[in-house]
Amino acid sequence: MHLITLIPGDGIGPEITKAVTDIFAAAQVPVQWEEQNAGQTTFDQSGELIPQTLLDSLEKTRVALKGPITTPVGKGFRSINITLRQKYDLYQNVRPAKTTEGIQSRYTGIDLVLFRENTEGLYSGLEVFDERLGISDSIARITVEGARKICRAAFAYASKHGRKKVTLAHKANILKMAGTIMINACKEAANEFPHIVFEDKIIDNMCMQLVNKPEQFDVVVTTNLFGDILSDLCAGLVGGLGVVSGANIGDDMAIFEAVHGSAPDIAGQGKANPTALLRSALMMLHHIGEHKHADRLEKALELTLQDKDKCTGDLGGKASTTEFAQAIIDNL
Ligand code: NAD
Repeated sequence: MHLITLIPGDGIGPEITKAVTDIFAAAQVPVQWEEQNAGQTTFDQSGELIPQTLLDSLEKTRVALKGPITTPVGKGFRSINITLRQKYDLYQNVRPAKTTEGIQSRYTGIDLVLFRENTEGLYSGLEVFDERLGISDSIARITVEGARKICRAAFAYASKHGRKKVTLAHKANILKMAGTIMINACKEAANEFPHIVFEDKIIDNMCMQLVNKPEQFDVVVTTNLFGDILSDLCAGLVGGLGVVSGANIGDDMAIFEAVHGSAPDIAGQGKANPTALLRSALMMLHHIGEHKHADRLEKALELTLQDKDKCTGDLGGKASTTEFAQAIIDNL
């Protein structure tokens, strides 16, 4: 039995985490959840945005499944998601995007994995506003060490999973220093993994190429903000935010969560698609060595996706979150 921290989050978070835990229970996956939350929900209850009990749980279990947490726009508290990623040095944000039979997309043959640097860049938290001068400075800090870690992780993943190519997306024509650090870090990793092809593309061209010919990409590595944007773009290529999974991985802790946010526009209405969180939970099962359970659940999910009527509205179906989860359980 694996002890896992479960962070339901807010918005659609509680609905989709319930769907996933119901599916896991029906499939008798050997995990025991330790539920802890963070964000506005816990702030309203106890005055704590990130309760110590959550941190204690994470430090004990080292693995979590997390629903989305709302971050106020422009004002209010700093992102809980970024705070956790930086606190535990979860420097890899791994986001696969794959076209799947049954999920409508304009494309076929996409099977790429995006490695987004997860703790530095424009999300370093180095932001100041000088009211008198009317100037805001947002520092995109890239460290040689951070660049080395994420680039090496992308190449190591490519090598381990039989992938052929790593593409670095950067803006080294304008951001010459930060871009060069990333290019050099990739070249270093490419020397260590000479059987993996390395190429680099300027981010604007990368966006065009992703829309035009996404099937050419295999593993993609990039800095924090570019990765955040590219991963939503990739979601759009393969069926939308309801279906793409993710993982925040460090050397000794991992938090699995969907790419999407708390979707306030559909929260509490039973419309949320649990696929993205379920797929994140399957990544988690592979991470803890429960490959057979992951494969069985993936088959049940893929079978369910073939029947549009059993899917949620974002996939063209009419089912609610719980009906979709039940259909997956029926296909186990
Ligand atoms: P969002 O991803 O929450 O929603 C974008 C669109 O996609 C919405 O129309 C939404 O209804 C739809 N969508 C998202 N997930 C879906 C699902 N599972 N099923 C069906 N439709 C789905 O992005 P947003 O509206 O820009 O952000 C809302 C909040 O989420 C913000 O506070 C943001 O900071 C936060 N956020 C949190 C995380 C995280 O916790 N890791 C990630 C991204 C955004």
